[in-house]
Amino acid sequence: MSNCGINSVHDEFDRLHLWHPYTSTHDPLPTYLVDHAEGAEIVLADGTRLIDGMSSWWCVIHGYNHPVLNKAIADQTAKMSHVMFGGLTHSPAIELGKLLLSILPPSMNHIFYADSGSVATEVAMKMAVQAQNNPRRTNFATIRSGYHGDTWNAMSVCDPVTGMHGAFGPALPVRFFADAPACRFGEDWDPKDFDSMARLLDEHGDELAAVILEPVVQGAGGMRFYHPQYLRELRRACDEKGILLIFDEIATGFGRTGKLFAWEHAGVEPDIMLIGKALTGGYMTFSAVAATAKVADMISSGEAGVMMHGPTFMGNPLACAVALASVRLLLASPWQERIKRIESIMKERLEEARNYPNVRDVRVLGGIGVIETEQYVDCGEYQKRCVKEGVWIRPFGHNCYIMPPYMAVSDSQVEKLCDALLKLTREMPCRK
Ligand SMILES: *Cc1c(COP(=O)(O)O)cnc(C)c1O
Repeated sequence: MSNCGINSVHDEFDRLHLWHPYTSTHDPLPTYLVDHAEGAEIVLADGTRLIDGMSSWWCVIHGYNHPVLNKAIADQTAKMSHVMFGGLTHSPAIELGKLLLSILPPSMNHIFYADSGSVATEVAMKMAVQAQNNPRRTNFATIRSGYHGDTWNAMSVCDPVTGMHGAFGPALPVRFFADAPACRFGEDWDPKDFDSMARLLDEHGDELAAVILEPVVQGAGGMRFYHPQYLRELRRACDEKGILLIFDEIATGFGRTGKLFAWEHAGVEPDIMLIGKALTGGYMTFSAVAATAKVADMISSGEAGVMMHGPTFMGNPLACAVALASVRLLLASPWQERIKRIESIMKERLEEARNYPNVRDVRVLGGIGVIETEQYVDCGEYQKRCVKEGVWIRPFGHNCYIMPPYMAVSDSQVEKLCDALLKLTREMPCRK
């Protein structure tokens, strides 16, 4: 095997003993040894510099090794890295909570800190069931092409085709799926787009605790941008039928779509909202579940009378401190202009790909640029070529996309990412 020997960027122990995301131990995809990262660049052990097109999966918005975030962690470490949240509290959690409530939808009133995006999904689903407090209202509906994480209940509401229903089959709870919205962001609304969901809610509405979905941008389930009117229709239908509405903004939060949060494109608020990923500027795993006063009241007057969740590392002070620093840094920066500028560069440059024979679609929104190809992309081969081009892009399925760390990339770095994406699309390594 040519690409798997020990050298300065591949590690044999890693290949033989460490699991990476979604990989086989028989035939692992190559992994590249990173020495350090700074700004918008990842530096490999042999000195190769890669412009990061992934923000390490949506989260590193200010870039790597940021002095303000480093200091927030160091300062907090000197006080305490952790203390249990049961019966104790601390100023990073309180200050972060105040700041979050000032930027989340106005109806949000309570915050539950959780460990990761997937756990936030679990917590939100538990909240919905507890709030309904009705043994006949315990199921969930969602739209196809969604992604909500890798834990059990999160998997159950991921897209049944691109998600993990195949691998886990009958082990997963059975949820209701409406068609993914077909009307695209920025195009005309067609009321028929809501028919599938309307039918589902008519048939099964009284079994549902909540509908969960990603507002406007569907991320890891398909990189799709849909019409905000869908959310207005959904809000109205959920209200009519007493169904709670959960917005998963784990990927879309903190500016990625051009608004601070994606619900703002539609102007309708959820009952429960999830944030994560960029919350800590990509420094630590952390998430938060926000809920309205009404949801909190329903839970507190329900069967258990308390919200039944309390992880060991809940409200971790290091995570709260770095999240606080990251959100403050973002709000004090010209993030809107920066993302607009990146959006316009990507729109202009990536347009060319529409003429390529193997390209199905090109779409750009905020800090996300997607080229959807006709064939499945061979991720391992693709990444080998990325490294040669000096960029870091990780495609999945039919989607080759870039979402750079918007507060750290320069215009010329965005241009380089676009050019590499175009070149790699032209020379596409595909698999059947
Ligand atoms: C990444 C993601 C999650 C899961 O978050 P993890 O931190 O990976 O567990 C959930 N929902 C959405 C929309 C995501 O993009």
